[in-house]
Amino acid sequence: MMNENNLSKGTMWQATTSCDPAYDGVFYYAVKTTGIFCRPSCKSKVPNRENVSFFSNAEEAKTSGYRPCKRCRPDLSIQHYDPFEYVLEDTMRLIKNNYNKKMPLHEIASRIGVSRFHLNRVFKKRIGCTPRIYLEKVRVKKAKELLLTTAFNNTEIGYQIGFQSMSSFYHAFKRNTGLSPSQFRAYYTGNTGSKEME
Ligand SMILES: [Zn+2]
Repeated sequence: MMNENNLSKGTMWQATTSCDPAYDGVFYYAVKTTGIFCRPSCKSKVPNRENVSFFSNAEEAKTSGYRPCKRCRPDLSIQHYDPFEYVLEDTMRLIKNNYNKKMPLHEIASRIGVSRFHLNRVFKKRIGCTPRIYLEKVRVKKAKELLLTTAFNNTEIGYQIGFQSMSSFYHAFKRNTGLSPSQFRAYYTGNTGSKEME
């Protein structure tokens, strides 16, 4: 549908800065300062325009001395390349590193560089749940750890792992484990001393 010969440098630069996957396989961009070339959709840091050159195929970029980016793998054919794989990896990493903060989906999506709708759909399709549910699972996993290894009470743990209220912590925990936080602690540590918060 697109022919690189028809693409202006302005169009290619626009596709590069917006990480547009529609141009993957159509052209490649290389960055002089890093010696690396990428697909347009690559989520690596946007380079300075003056360091960028464009190539219509990966071979050309390699011949000019550039190495393929390890992240977007422009050396692999488009059929073997999954542009969403690193979107998913980035999303999971972002959630794991920030699970204890308030993190609405639109913020995750904008930090990853895709639309909220798109992220939700792709994530659900590939991971089997939405990013919100994934975040909940990460938090519950952390809560279990804290319940078993610390003396913090339920309220302290709930807030520490990013829940905005005790009831949301309680419901999320129960949904994922079938037990309330106190029941879980008592069941696995034999410690029934902590006061039931629910
Ligand atoms: Zn790349």
